[in-house]
Amino acid sequence: MAAPSPLARIKQGLDDLPGWLATLCDAELGKALIETREVIDRGEAVFASGVRRFEKSGQYRADGALSVIAWLRSNCKLSGGAAAERVEVARALDQLPKTEEAFARGDVSYQHVAVMARTADHVGTAAVRKVEASLLQAAETMDPGQLTGVAKNFEHRIDAAAALAEANRAHERRYLHVSEPMDGLVRLDGLLDTEGGAILRTALNAGMLPGKDDDRTPGQRRADALVDLCRRKTGGSATGAGPRPHLVIRASLETLLGTPGASAGELEAGGSVPAETVRRLACDAALTRITGRGELEAEISHASRSIPPSTRRAVEARDRRCVAGSCDRPPQWTDVHHLQHWTQGGPTTLPNLVLLCRRHHRMVHEEGWGLRRGEHGRWGLVPPIQLISAHARSA
Ligand SMILES: [Zn+2]
Ligand SMILES: [Zn+2]
Repeated sequence: MAAPSPLARIKQGLDDLPGWLATLCDAELGKALIETREVIDRGEAVFASGVRRFEKSGQYRADGALSVIAWLRSNCKLSGGAAAERVEVARALDQLPKTEEAFARGDVSYQHVAVMARTADHVGTAAVRKVEASLLQAAETMDPGQLTGVAKNFEHRIDAAAALAEANRAHERRYLHVSEPMDGLVRLDGLLDTEGGAILRTALNAGMLPGKDDDRTPGQRRADALVDLCRRKTGGSATGAGPRPHLVIRASLETLLGTPGASAGELEAGGSVPAETVRRLACDAALTRITGRGELEAEISHASRSIPPSTRRAVEARDRRCVAGSCDRPPQWTDVHHLQHWTQGGPTTLPNLVLLCRRHHRMVHEEGWGLRRGEHGRWGLVPPIQLISAHARSA
């Protein structure tokens, strides 16, 4: 009987691996994970040399594939980008024997080798071969991201013109797409060049620090930071005073009044928002211009009132931050909230106005939270469920 193939033995080993990992104590797990990665990377090394031979032989054409990349995509569960990268690695290794050896030994990872291959693609394998030993040495102590930095510097030294041309190509690929609203969501996707990305990240990082009791995910905080940046850049001052961006909403008086069965508000820029959102946006009318349809127009513009800058300043001087619970968000992150909505006759005067940060303002309107004043004069948040049971008790 023929001995089982190495692949069969590896598969057998992988079958046994989870059970073996389960027997390790927590302190031993880290080392086992490192060795697991080594096995995966050495597998990639074998895969790369196989791919190289497969491409040279043209055997992939036997399956009707037009290229080895296409064959890998349809047979090896790889995306087009992942397949192309593996072929690039396979081709580069043919010219970089030291890298091939280090890869096969497990001294460098697949991602390291992909960086080397990309560099070879940019400046030619002959140039990379001259510094191959020092790049490999760097790879042993650097993660692939750091190695990319070293490789980019090297590319720049070799060929500043090529590095510039590559940066210019990257710059040309920049775009931003903002989708039409769908199911209450707008999808963003896009590419920025390195400089644009750095500016965006710096600006977002500054605005996405978690507040007290902040339970938003990093992704949610990043999204809020982006919207806040835009809010402030479209005409608002950093202090929140002065003219602020206008969001033009078409809404009927019934929507503003919260009448059951009223239609949603329509944003002039596209999409619709629920009535309660219209009421929140209208709450601090400096944010928003509400327009009605036809004969309602006069009635709405008569009813809607903006908060005069002097009143806003007085509310800020009194509250100094979002009033909800122990929230510490400063005035520039807040809206002015009418305790009794102006559509219900609440006056736009100091006693009826409080500062609420955008999260808390949203909670109070769309999520049904209540505000109740405690003995110490601070406003506490009342969860929706307690409000309902309080209503039930009083009924
Ligand atoms: Zn409000
Ligand atoms: Zn708040």
